[in-house]
Amino acid sequence: MDKAYDLVVVGTGTASGAASRCRDAGWKVAVIDSRPVGGTCALRGCRPKKLLVSAGEAVHVPRDMAGRGILDAGLKIDWPALMRFKRSETDPLPAAFTEGYAKAGIDVIKGRARFVGPSALAVNGDRVTGRHVLIAAGARPAPLGVPGEELVASSDRFLDLDNLPPRIIFVGGGFISFEFAHLAARAGAEVTILHRGARPLEGFDPDLVGLLVKRTRTTSISPRAASRRSGGGSASTSISRARPTRRSMPRAMPPPAGPR
Ligand SMILES: Cc1cc2nc3c(=O)[nH]c(=O)nc-3n(C[C@H](O)[C@H](O)[C@H](O)COP(=O)(O)OP(=O)(O)OC[C@H]3O[C@@H](n4cnc5c(N)ncnc54)[C@H](O)[C@@H]3O)c2cc1C
Repeated sequence: MDKAYDLVVVGTGTASGAASRCRDAGWKVAVIDSRPVGGTCALRGCRPKKLLVSAGEAVHVPRDMAGRGILDAGLKIDWPALMRFKRSETDPLPAAFTEGYAKAGIDVIKGRARFVGPSALAVNGDRVTGRHVLIAAGARPAPLGVPGEELVASSDRFLDLDNLPPRIIFVGGGFISFEFAHLAARAGAEVTILHRGARPLEGFDPDLVGLLVKRTRTTSISPRAASRRSGGGSASTSISRARPTRRSMPRAMPPPAGPR
């Protein structure tokens, strides 16, 4: 079947915002997505991450104030319950986004799009054409280029773990890695961040990063600079906290889930 639009947007994440604006202007618009409608930020990125990180902050503050007028209330993160809470927030979103598009008069086409002409796409055997096509297809995790990388889980998997493993290595010393690492450490895991270069968070102000590292040392999370591989420029920093309840946790991170 042929479907023709003024605008076709591939992707329903943050970058797909033009769909609504063009629809408001009277254009005939469709959005296409091969994964649940809503994109990375809402479903597998910023939003679920912030929900989980909030829990880490919630237990950190009273722990940090223990002995300074606050009695240590023995707060701890119940990871499975936290994950249920996260899912209760994110699972309804694809249906809500889909309904929102429908109310706005935007067609939602579910399936993987591929170009079959300059402004024509094939999706589920249909040909979808647009006067304009916006590619808002997001990004994939960068390949690591190391043997065994197929065993490494992505952030999608971390944000959907039923149980927190007792030990986790995060590859990359960027801000999301740090947020995940501090959350995992506060939830009881032993955490290592592997990163290239002299210091983590390289894109950030060195003074602020220095303060963060210093601050991290004053909490019960202790950073430890470790090996630098000759030539490769890679280094690792370990942060660890707490006594994992090993008996209740799996011994290794479960294998990555297949595409959803
Ligand atoms: C764990 C994590 C935490 C993050 N935290 C933050 C944060 O705190 N602050 C911040 O600013 N940013 C954060 N980001 C980054 C932010 O989520 C992304 O920059 C943003 O979501 C990108 O939006 P997008 O619309 O470009 O792509 P996406 O939201 O990824 O949407 C692209 C969509 O296109 C679909 N698609 C791709 N190819 C096709 C195809 N051929 N056919 C059909 N559909 C296709 C995909 O299924 C996907 O749903 C985070 C990212 C991650 C992974």
